[in-house]
Amino acid sequence: MIKRFLRSCVAGSLQWSGILARYQNAANGKLLILCYHRILPAQFKARYFVPDLVVTPEAFRHHCRILKQCFDTRPLGEALDILQNGNRNSRPLAAITFDDGYQDNFRFAVPILNEVDLRATFFVISNLIGTSKRPWYDELAHLVSESESFAMALNWLNRNHFTSNSSHQLDAQGIVALAKKLGTDNRRELIEQLSEGRSEAVRTDDCIVTSQQMHAMQSAGHEIGSHSSTHEILTQLDDASLAHEVAGSRRQIEELLGRSIRLFCYPNGDTDDRVVEAVRSAGYTHAVTTESGANLVSQDRFRLRRSFIHEDRLSGLNGKPSDSLLRMEVLGLTDRIFRRRQRMAPA
Ligand SMILES: [Zn+2]
Repeated sequence: MIKRFLRSCVAGSLQWSGILARYQNAANGKLLILCYHRILPAQFKARYFVPDLVVTPEAFRHHCRILKQCFDTRPLGEALDILQNGNRNSRPLAAITFDDGYQDNFRFAVPILNEVDLRATFFVISNLIGTSKRPWYDELAHLVSESESFAMALNWLNRNHFTSNSSHQLDAQGIVALAKKLGTDNRRELIEQLSEGRSEAVRTDDCIVTSQQMHAMQSAGHEIGSHSSTHEILTQLDDASLAHEVAGSRRQIEELLGRSIRLFCYPNGDTDDRVVEAVRSAGYTHAVTTESGANLVSQDRFRLRRSFIHEDRLSGLNGKPSDSLLRMEVLGLTDRIFRRRQRMAPA
C-alpha cells in the first residue's frame, strides 16, 4: 500500500510538472516493447499460480487506449523496420507482445485490440498449437496444486537432491522455479511421475491457440512469432534439441501460416551466445528477451528489451489502471526512479 501510494504520488507529480510529457517527447528515437502473458477475468487471475502474469480485460482495454493515444503502437516487426529507417512520427514507437500464445489472448485480447484498432505480436509455443495440453510449467503448477502431489514433488526433489535451502517455504511457484533449473530429462521425469494415473480436461483458455485462430489473427493484421517448440530452457539443451526448438518451431509455424516468420522470443528469457547463434542461423531477424528497458536503433537485434506489464503496479490509489503509471512503465521511468531489478518476472 505504501509503495502504491509512493508510485501514485511520483506519477502524479511527473504528469503535473510536465516532466512525463517531456520525457515522452525525448523517447522518439526509441522502441518500447511491452510484454504481456495472459488476459483473463479477475476470478481466474486470482487462481493462476503466478497472478502477476495475468492482466484483466478491463485493465488491458485501458492500457490499449493509452497506447493508442500516446504512442505509435504497431506489431513488433513493423515497429522494428520503422526504428531502423528512423522514426519520423511525433510519438515514440511501441509494440505490444504476448508470450506463450494462450487461447485467452484470442478470446479476450484480440477483440479489444481490434476494437481500439491496435495490432500486436503473439509468440506461440509451436508444438502445443491446437492441442489440449498445458505448457509444462502450467501442468506442473496444476499438478502440485493438489496437496498429495505437492508432497510427492517435494519428496522427488529431495530424493534427487534438487531441493533449495528454502524448500520448507516452497509453493507451486517455487516448485516451478526450481524445476526450471532441473534440466529437460529430470523435469519430464518429475512431471510424468506426478501425472501418473491422472487425466483431466484442460480449460480452453489454458491451451495454446489453434491454427485457425492464428490465421484469424494474422488476417486481422496481428503478427505471429515463435516462442520455441516446447518452452524448454534453451541454454540447457544440446545442439540438436536447440535446433529443434528454434529452427523446428519456425518451420512448423510457417507451414501452418503459409508465410515466413521473423521474430523469436526466448522461453523464460534465457539465452546466451550459442542460443543467439541458433536463432540467427535459423533465419530469424530479431529476438526478444526479458531484460527490461527501451531499445535504441543500436540495440543488439537478438537481445531486444521489453517492459513487463504488471497490472497491479500500474494501478493507482483507487485500484484502477493509471494513465501516468502506464506511461512511466513503458518509457522506462519506473525502472529509473524505483530501481527495479533489470530482469523481469519469469516469462
Ligand atoms: Zn513463455
